[in-house]
Amino acid sequence: MFTEPFFQDSEISNSGWVEVVSGPMFSGKTEELMRRLRRAKIAQQKIELFKPSLDKRYHEKKVVSHDESEMESIVIENENDILKLSKDAQVIAIDEAQFFSNEIIDIIKTIADKGKRVIVAGLDKDYMGKPFGPMPQLMANAEFITKLHAICVRCGSLASFSYRIKKSKKTVMLGATEEYQARCRACFNLDE
Ligand code: ADP
Ligand code: ZN
Repeated sequence: MFTEPFFQDSEISNSGWVEVVSGPMFSGKTEELMRRLRRAKIAQQKIELFKPSLDKRYHEKKVVSHDESEMESIVIENENDILKLSKDAQVIAIDEAQFFSNEIIDIIKTIADKGKRVIVAGLDKDYMGKPFGPMPQLMANAEFITKLHAICVRCGSLASFSYRIKKSKKTVMLGATEEYQARCRACFNLDE
């Protein structure tokens, strides 16, 4: 079901690329990111996983999905640190990319231009349904985009929206099931 980029050897030899994995909360972005990284490891490639320091949801250092699988990561305060910390890696992954500033756009471009594979996971839309942070530009620059869906907890359809249960005006509010629900378009618009 997932679309992992597939290349002939000759196609990957000289050039890097960017993959974006996006969708609402609970859609399996982190799971899919980890699946791709596990496969890169099996291919003996050196990987490095980064996440913003803002995301303290479950664990300080590890990236943890909602189904509780986990992987070591480097927590980043300043986007520019990704450049130097990824020097030795062939595959660079970034989770929760929506929380980084727009500086991440050029940083990712620079890394891919060096011939590396960059896998970026992040929310496409915030709780208001608006494009989230640098994600629109990252998607525009990517060679591959995978849009994942969660299950609408209200009606069981495919969900593309992250609905905030508690009303707060701050866009960046962390949390999981208590504060947010995956919802389809119709249930998202109900506002109840
Ligand atoms: P994301 O990174 O997109 O927030 P995760 O990879 O952390 O997603 O978690 C995905 C997992 O969340 C699913 O495999 C499933 O076990 C769980 N889950 C909880 N609620 C839902 C939901 N409403 N729809 C789909 N999966 C859900
Ligand atoms: Zn619904």
